[in-house]
Amino acid sequence: MSNQSFIARGRISETEVLGVFQTLMFKFRQNGIFIQECVYCPHESKQNCNCRKPNTALVDDLVKRYNLDLKNSLVVGDAKGDFELALNLGCHFVGVKNPHTTDAPDWNDPRITHTLEDMRKLERILGKIENVDNNKI
Ligand SMILES: [Zn+2]
Repeated sequence: MSNQSFIARGRISETEVLGVFQTLMFKFRQNGIFIQECVYCPHESKQNCNCRKPNTALVDDLVKRYNLDLKNSLVVGDAKGDFELALNLGCHFVGVKNPHTTDAPDWNDPRITHTLEDMRKLERILGKIENVDNNKI
């Protein structure tokens, strides 16, 4: 799930965004991670839509279509908006400490389930997903 306000500002087309998602999904799959679907908000924050993170409209749709159990789901992200999305959904949050992120969450917030120094370590966390409900990851 991604906020892509560059679309609203005319800096990138939706076709280009979908191309990036296709590449991303392919690269993850090469590493054994299957991404079912990518969704995005094409709006700017001033448009006050319901689909821009941390609003939940995009995820609400996914929950219905895939019958997701939010209490046993993770939001993985590097930005404050990702963390706020997890809080709004009642999901766990796995924060990735990306040095390039300009709006990182407060890493000391006790509501963060787990933090990773590197996205490549995510696989280890996913392998322990059965423990997610007990905050044991
Ligand atoms: Zn939107």
